[in-house]
Amino acid sequence: MMNRMNVFIIIFITMLSTTNELSVQAAEPTGTISVVSFDGLGHMDAERYMDKGVMRNLQKFQQEAAYATDFVTVTPSLTAPSHAAMATGAGPAKTGIVSNQFHSSGEKVKDDQSGFSQTLGVTPIWKEARDQGKVTATVAFPDSNPDNASAATYAVYSGGTLADSELHDLSFSPIEDERAEQLSSGSMDVEEAVISLDIKNSPSLQLYVLRTDEHEPKFYLSMNQKEIGEEIFVEDWVAAALDVPSLDSAGFYMKLKKNPDNNEELQLFQGTVMGGLYRGPGKFAEDIDERFGFYPAADELTAFTNGDITREEYEQAGERFTDWVTDVSLYIKEQYRPDLLFYYYPVVDNELHEYLLREPAQPGYVTANILEKEMYVSWAFSQADQAIGRIWNNMNSEDHLFIVSDHGLEPIHTRLSPNKELEKAGLLVKDQNGVIDQTKTKAYAEASGTIAHVYVNLKGREKKGIVEPEEFDRVRNEIVSVFTGRTVFSSLIQDPEETAHPILRWLTGSSDIAYSYPGILLLSDRKKGQVSPYEKVWVAGTEEYDEIHNENSGDVFLTAAPGYLMGKDAKIAVEPTQEMGSHGGDPERPRLRPILFAAGPKIPPGEITDRISMTDIAPSLYKLLDLQAPDFVDGKAIWQRESIYK
Ligand SMILES: [Zn+2]
Repeated sequence: MMNRMNVFIIIFITMLSTTNELSVQAAEPTGTISVVSFDGLGHMDAERYMDKGVMRNLQKFQQEAAYATDFVTVTPSLTAPSHAAMATGAGPAKTGIVSNQFHSSGEKVKDDQSGFSQTLGVTPIWKEARDQGKVTATVAFPDSNPDNASAATYAVYSGGTLADSELHDLSFSPIEDERAEQLSSGSMDVEEAVISLDIKNSPSLQLYVLRTDEHEPKFYLSMNQKEIGEEIFVEDWVAAALDVPSLDSAGFYMKLKKNPDNNEELQLFQGTVMGGLYRGPGKFAEDIDERFGFYPAADELTAFTNGDITREEYEQAGERFTDWVTDVSLYIKEQYRPDLLFYYYPVVDNELHEYLLREPAQPGYVTANILEKEMYVSWAFSQADQAIGRIWNNMNSEDHLFIVSDHGLEPIHTRLSPNKELEKAGLLVKDQNGVIDQTKTKAYAEASGTIAHVYVNLKGREKKGIVEPEEFDRVRNEIVSVFTGRTVFSSLIQDPEETAHPILRWLTGSSDIAYSYPGILLLSDRKKGQVSPYEKVWVAGTEEYDEIHNENSGDVFLTAAPGYLMGKDAKIAVEPTQEMGSHGGDPERPRLRPILFAAGPKIPPGEITDRISMTDIAPSLYKLLDLQAPDFVDGKAIWQRESIYK
């Protein structure tokens, strides 16, 4: 909060400092520039939830901030490419982050790699500013893996999932050892249940749950069979920290639960086991580990969709991660005083991918379901808003704060399978076991969200490539014609026999089926007829493709029409979607537009009506830091331009 008190204190300190000639740095006090990214928080949804009163803190912030109303991200509008552009000021052609998953030249054509773990092709500002003498920090920020060469001064990052969540049945049997003697006060039985966990890169872990039952049952949990451990209570979360070599932290949450089917039985829900990387000079790693413990799981979505945990428990896990990121980031800001601090929240994106149910053409579009999913999504926006409230309250008069996102999401109704299309055209060949036959496959698609890169299995370029260089153009043209020629019949027909299930029908491609949902004819604004679900089919070498062309990008690039998702391993060419929201396509589309709010002493508030690109953020930060932006930067500093405001 920019309150008067802070201003007075700072002026006072400044005056003292300027009288002391040795204190050069204090002559011009500078705060922290914080860049806080809320994954998937689109411009349209921000407006929607401000209007609904769910995002009151963002609404308040907007009154004191500059906010962009014509802000676009890069192509593809995916998380890793957008954050790479945000962090560097350059597009995917230069960062090399052309998707969330892509194929790298020289590997087998079906082998992919993650856009989140690769070193960026150009330097992110947290490294460049660090090299120019500034202190920088990143917390949970995409593309900021401290194991890469381009780390911030201080970095807190996920060390990956070490074990998936699991609901364990507990079967107790009596024990008669020292633990029983210690716990028992007479003839009472002491029983034990043992759970075994497989932890990645570690010996398997045993959990021992002891039960005594004198007046009422009591439970104890230990990771050592010789010790009784801590008393735990049914329905209470317990945190367990683990020691895993090569990681700065590891651990998970768990909970003793009553089996809903049989109240006599107990189960232990073991949450996702996560590793954490805490990197920085001095005792930074120890400090963060001691104060904040292990890096928690961002969500327990699988457990919730499996029915292992309740919605309430799922929300508790989500809130835990959100609060953890805020706690750690605000602590780093106060304690380590970085000039530049990046942090990140995935909660909105997680929820919208799963529950964005807003269009009649989507599976399950019935009132009760729509209302339930709207409650889920609304929870995520209120979580984001609570974090914004805490962050904004923590600001002092010298700080700058950017509240941004990487993209919005669109409702999805249909999943496409580009690899199935390639297979039908004979360009992709599978063996009897359904595994891609590298020796016969000429093209392979890497799909992510609503886009895909298609790679020609070129001899001399790909490991075990089979397409001769002189054949390349022909194969590439064949790929283009597969996707350009693809249409689906969008007519939605009601089936009186099976009202609970989609009707399956296809007019083009005899073996494929389109589908429809009950009542859809009345509600859908879609007209009967042919549509091309592969909206854009771009070929490397053309002008429009230039902005993403890189050695990591495909020979053909596909984006889906609104409502269509591309399945990576989908076995059916066209089918109803499981995932309700996605993104990746044309960043100009209104729903895919991200948010940009910024405030601080050097930023005049008001609506910015100028076109702002994702690549303009880094140059703006360089300007605020008084640093020279590197030559590779594509964007322009926002507050350098004339008349950007309404
Ligand atoms: Zn994202």
